[in-house]
Amino acid sequence: MSSCPATHDPEREARLRHELVEVCRLLYERGLVAGQDGNVSVRLGDDRLLVTPAGRAKGSLAPEDLVVTTLNGDVILGGRASSEIRMHLALYARRPDVAAVVHAHPPVATGFAVAGIEIDPDVLPETIFQVGDVALVPFAMPGTDALPRSLEPFAATHDAFLLSNHGATTVGRSLGEAHLRMESLEHAARILLAARQLGSVRPLDAESVRALRAARAAVRDTSEGGLGPHRGGSE
Ligand SMILES: [Zn+2]
Repeated sequence: MSSCPATHDPEREARLRHELVEVCRLLYERGLVAGQDGNVSVRLGDDRLLVTPAGRAKGSLAPEDLVVTTLNGDVILGGRASSEIRMHLALYARRPDVAAVVHAHPPVATGFAVAGIEIDPDVLPETIFQVGDVALVPFAMPGTDALPRSLEPFAATHDAFLLSNHGATTVGRSLGEAHLRMESLEHAARILLAARQLGSVRPLDAESVRALRAARAAVRDTSEGGLGPHRGGSE
C-alpha cells in the first residue's frame, strides 16, 4: 500500500465523492446523459481513482455508491466500476496532468460525432480557450479495449474527444475543469449547429485565434491552471 498522504486523506475523499456525485447530477439534469449513460472519475491520490459504478443512473447517485480502484482498475472498495473504466485508465496513464475524466452522451455534440463532422475550430473564443481542438475519434465498440486504443493517437494533445457514433469525453486537472469542458463542448455544438442551419460558420480572424491559442497554451502549461485547482479541487 502506498504511504502517500493524499491517498489516505479522508476529508479529501469525502469532498471528491460529493463533487463527483454533483457532476453526475448536473450531467443528467442538463441532458448530457440519459439513464445509465456516461461515467466520471477523479484521481483520489497517486495510486487510486474514484469511479462511477456500472449500470447506475447518473442523476441519483449517492457519494457512497462510488467505487475506489487502483490505476489498473482493480476494485479496492465498492461494487463494480463503470464498463468504460479502461478508457479512463488509458487517459490517466498517458496524461499525468489529468486528474479527472468525464464521459457523457451530449446530444448535439454527439450528433456531430454521428454525422462525422468535426467541431469547427477557431470559431468561438470560449471553445478555443476552454476546450481547445476537439479530436474526432473513429468509432470503437463501447466497453471494449478498442475504445481506449481509438483515443490513443489524440490523448497527449487533446482535452476533448468526440467518439464517433457514441458520445464525448473530456479531461481536466480537476473535476470542475473536465465537467466545464463537457458543458462548453455541448454548448459550442449547439451554437455551431444553429450557425450551420442559418447558412454559414465564419471563423475568427487569424490574429484573434493566435492570441486565444497562446492564452490557452499558457494556462495549460502551468501546474495549477486558471480554470480550477490541480488534482480534483472544486471550482
Ligand atoms: Zn458512452
